Amino acid sequence: MKILISACLFGQKVRYDGADCAQSHTWLLDIKKEGLLIPFCPEVEAGMGVPRPPIELLNGDIVNQKGDILTRDFDPVFEKLSALIERERPVLAILKEKSPSCGVNQVYDGSFSGNLIPGQGIMARFLADSMPVFSENELDLAQKTYLEIRAQRQK
Ligand code: SF4
Repeated sequence: MKILISACLFGQKVRYDGADCAQSHTWLLDIKKEGLLIPFCPEVEAGMGVPRPPIELLNGDIVNQKGDILTRDFDPVFEKLSALIERERPVLAILKEKSPSCGVNQVYDGSFSGNLIPGQGIMARFLADSMPVFSENELDLAQKTYLEIRAQRQK
């Protein structure tokens, strides 16, 4: 059973500033070793590069600091993501909190001033239609859900 994960949480240096957000949760490290994690960075897949100017969500759209709307750049990303889901059948997703693409419970408010508001990034919203989605702050809950799904499937 595979899990889709934000590539920066997996340990890839794909954040806008060229850093990663690698996690040290034992369960996550174990399933990583088993090759069950599928890393994916929607912003890299949208061709935004690393490093890249920061983007935020404003009224549901992805915007840069100049106010350009970049939401349509993600159309091919969702096509690729759909094909990936079809092929790999991940049972849940673990995504980076606060990101305009990956945020699960909170995102920045589009003012580029560090203000957080409740909300989901555009990839998190897309994935939430087809699987449970957790942030890196909810890894114990993600583990519990994963084990429950596995137990169900073994019945
Ligand atoms: Fe990580 Fe998602 Fe940002 Fe890519 S878009 S760096 S995967 S939070």
